[in-house]
Amino acid sequence: MSICPVCLEPISGQIFQEGDQIFIKKTCDIHGYFNEIYWSDAEVFRKFYRYLCDGSGVDNSQTPTSRCPFDCGLCNNHKTATLLGNIDITNRCNMACPVCFADAGGQVYEPTLSQIKSMMYNLRHQQPVPCPAVQFSGGEPTLRDDLPDILSMARKMGFSQIQIATNGLRLATSLNFCRSLVINGLNTIYLQFDGVTSKPYMIVRGRDLFPTKLKALDNLRKAGQKSVVLVPTLAKGVNDQEVGAIVRFASKNLDIVKGINMQPVSFAGRIDDEERSQKRLTIPDLFKLLEEQTDNEISRGDFYPVSFVTPLSRLLAAESGKEQPVFTVHPCCGAATYIYNFNNHLIPITRFIDVEGLFEKIEREVNNFDGSNFGRFKMRGKILKEMPKFVDDAKVPEDLNIKKLLIGIFMNGTRDSLREFHNKTLFLGAMHFQDVFNMDLERLQRCGVHYATPDGRIIPFCAYNTIHRKEVEEWFCMQPNV
Ligand code: SF4
Ligand code: SF4
Repeated sequence: MSICPVCLEPISGQIFQEGDQIFIKKTCDIHGYFNEIYWSDAEVFRKFYRYLCDGSGVDNSQTPTSRCPFDCGLCNNHKTATLLGNIDITNRCNMACPVCFADAGGQVYEPTLSQIKSMMYNLRHQQPVPCPAVQFSGGEPTLRDDLPDILSMARKMGFSQIQIATNGLRLATSLNFCRSLVINGLNTIYLQFDGVTSKPYMIVRGRDLFPTKLKALDNLRKAGQKSVVLVPTLAKGVNDQEVGAIVRFASKNLDIVKGINMQPVSFAGRIDDEERSQKRLTIPDLFKLLEEQTDNEISRGDFYPVSFVTPLSRLLAAESGKEQPVFTVHPCCGAATYIYNFNNHLIPITRFIDVEGLFEKIEREVNNFDGSNFGRFKMRGKILKEMPKFVDDAKVPEDLNIKKLLIGIFMNGTRDSLREFHNKTLFLGAMHFQDVFNMDLERLQRCGVHYATPDGRIIPFCAYNTIHRKEVEEWFCMQPNV
């Protein structure tokens, strides 16, 4: 199922291969035929599609479903619980970017502290697993002077990961503001970061913001912030020639930059077919660009879909006896790998760890686990015993004790081991948000990135930005300072 890009009515669609690319086609009785690129590499599509899986959603869904994507939610048909809960705390912004999901359009949407608290409450009371991570977004969330209070409230409510998504303008101008965010419990900053030259900023943002990004990073360092994820919105002709340089920039700033989340542009509003196909990039296009721009140091084979890690969640659940967040996001939504920086060479961990073999082993042992204490001991022992088999010693970078690191993670799953791992590697991920042209409800129904809204609903990200945002903001809008 998909939706008509014009009237947004649910209509059936078909995903099919033509040449070595995958397309989605659909016909609306009123608005006609539409055909859109879905995934530009059929071989990688097949590799990723092997990891399609269903989660069990939430036990306390808010709505029954009859007409997806209008019944969010979450409705009782949704298959993935909230992994990251977004809360828009304002739609005001100190910039006006044409690629933005949120557009104030004259009306200000700015939930009160008590509305924000109740949205967080809903996320934390999701069953059986409370939402572990929250991101405050906008608009530009740093325009709210009470952002530190909001972060502190999130900490008290038990979120283990607290993020903001920001353009960094205010961070670049106020070290004190950076300090107040860090002190009040901010874990990670998702920093809009279009490239390492002035060109993409001039095209997309209308001014050269690269020096501003550097200043923001500098201030965050001084403030003691330990984790920033760079977030480039990728479009052909804008910054597609900078992806390799962005990865190199990040790998030279590992003291503070822990990851990159590349986001191929998705299109909001009306855009003609020609302009769309000129700018459209898919995740496999990004893989090709990375290969070209890193001399194959990073290649398509190094990436796996988000759902690849579900055996780890199952292992953690078996170890702890408690339900865990499970990353059953659709394989075409996102991809990731980890990169190790050794003497300025970028080495994806997949070059020295057989991750497929290792995760299949974990999956097998978790499937055999009988729930007893002895069974748990046996499961852990079998995984640890065979783990060295999945490491290619000849290819491990000299300064990396990967076996010790892996054993540390699997022995006790401690945050310390994971932290050590993250300190030495760069997370390189991509998420391609859907728009009305390429919308696939099979993807949407597995979405794990959701918005909480003041009316108590929890709405999958791509449904919110294509269908629900306008209505929610209009309903709750107010005049500034009221
Ligand atoms: S997107 Fe998910 S929550 Fe929304 S109607 Fe569809 S299945 Fe339900
Ligand atoms: S936000 Fe969009 S692209 Fe990301 S997981 Fe959800 S449906 Fe997929």
